[in-house]
Amino acid sequence: MVNKNDEFNLKITGYTSEGGGVGKFDGQAIFVENTAVGDEILCHIIKAKKTYAIGKAMKIIKPAKSRIEPECEAFKSCGGCSFAHIKYEEELKAKEQKVIDAFNRIGGISPGFEAIIPSPETTRYRNKAQYPVRRENGILNIGFYAKKSHRVIDGGDCLLQPVEFTEIIEIFRKWINDCNITVYSENTNKGLLRHIYLRKAFATGEIMVCIVINGKALPESERLLEQLKKIKGFKTLVINVNCKNTNVVLGDECIPLYGNGYITDILCDVKIKISPLSFYQINRNGAQRLYNKAAEYAGLTGKEDILDLYCGTGTIGLSMAHKAKSLIGVEIIPEAIEDANANARINGIENARFICGDASGAAEELKREGITPEVVILDPPRKGCAEELLKTVAEINPEKIVYVSCDPATLARDCARLLNLGYTVKKVTPVDMFPRTSHVETVVQLVRKNPDTHIDFDISLDEFDLTASEAKATYQEIKDYVLDKFGLKVSSLNISQVKTKFGIIERENYNKGEGKSRVPQCPPEKEKAIINALRYFKMI
Ligand code: SAH
Repeated sequence: MVNKNDEFNLKITGYTSEGGGVGKFDGQAIFVENTAVGDEILCHIIKAKKTYAIGKAMKIIKPAKSRIEPECEAFKSCGGCSFAHIKYEEELKAKEQKVIDAFNRIGGISPGFEAIIPSPETTRYRNKAQYPVRRENGILNIGFYAKKSHRVIDGGDCLLQPVEFTEIIEIFRKWINDCNITVYSENTNKGLLRHIYLRKAFATGEIMVCIVINGKALPESERLLEQLKKIKGFKTLVINVNCKNTNVVLGDECIPLYGNGYITDILCDVKIKISPLSFYQINRNGAQRLYNKAAEYAGLTGKEDILDLYCGTGTIGLSMAHKAKSLIGVEIIPEAIEDANANARINGIENARFICGDASGAAEELKREGITPEVVILDPPRKGCAEELLKTVAEINPEKIVYVSCDPATLARDCARLLNLGYTVKKVTPVDMFPRTSHVETVVQLVRKNPDTHIDFDISLDEFDLTASEAKATYQEIKDYVLDKFGLKVSSLNISQVKTKFGIIERENYNKGEGKSRVPQCPPEKEKAIINALRYFKMI
């Protein structure tokens, strides 16, 4: 066991799902930020727990081959980019592994993975930024929150954002100082200016400036506008009213001060109207690759009805509508639905309709109406789909489900649930929409099992509790542990058999032996060692 302030040499052998490095010392996992697989470091323990420890790299003794010098000066203080210090190819490998691990550990499944699709650009790919504005000791800071805090660090030129955003921030800085605009304080809930929220439509170059204020009126707006109009592509200025004492950035009310209050982009040949409150993929060029993959997985022939759940402004469904018979989209934010309807109209798409409501309730209602879509698209927020929605989707019984997700953990959980509801996970493709950060998007094709061949697994859904599952170990980690501690070599089948005994969901592809030749059972000595490992990893 390691202790606080211990120092030793450590080799980094993997990445955490947040993009930090991890190495093993004395059989214990040691997490060290800003390291790369292959690094040999002098590690100083800053926090020691029973099952893991957190270390700091005091010195890089031997750098990994994939290391590069981060281009951004704020790399260490910002925390937005976990991978700015490694080559992009290495980042892609780490992301691919993150998705595979989530399916193995959380979903208990190993489906067919396709190679990760890289982002067309790795810098300046973002089309949206929300800059907090604060004053500390009289100094104005516009930028980003420091790691794990609400202290605002002045941003400078973030390499993920378009250059125009940096120019706009400089305009604001001058305007706030020249016009004595008050700045919001989280402590007192006083002061006007909270966030500067910017969006850019990459295909058209149009730029939206949205000012989040603790009030309803903006003083000196003419002076601000005069400067903003000098920015190429500036199209609209909007006030967003947020007077609540909350961490949530945006309020519900938007008031356009200049222009229409929205901008228009083009995505997969479809014109998309973007309002301040509507969701829009932050990497437009990457999103085109993602949607093309989703379309491939949908495999449309022109005869299908599509149900697009969590549709936002309708982007995914509308990009496929010309290859389908009909499209129904469901989304909870009214403004997004207004945009989705407008998007159908401005693109002359007549076979689409959109419903504003909760996906679970709306799907249930549509099922009762007797709709029978061949393809259902799921693209929920990070927390994934509600369990009852998955049941309803399975009852609607589409041939294919295309699941797009920004969180591999909840995706894997939901795929495992769908497996239990009669669907097979056919193909999985990770798509990198967020270069340099630890986030990764994934698209999955699920196909209805043939009722004659599908076997029901009796799985308790309680097993999918994410907080517990995320801490679970891979088969390799269990094997390593057992070898380290007991000197025993155990197979995946052995582990699988013990897991099954304890009612832990098992991988779909392990041969359970039905109708086949006898499957060797796990010897008692190995079983004991595996049980010890499962306890160690808190899986039982
Ligand atoms: N498919 C869209 C949007 C995906 S983001 C695109 O690619 O652009 C997820 C969307 O789900 C957001 O627009 C969010 O507003 C919506 N949402 C969140 N919870 C929901 C719920 N319970 N029911 C329906 N939509 C929901």
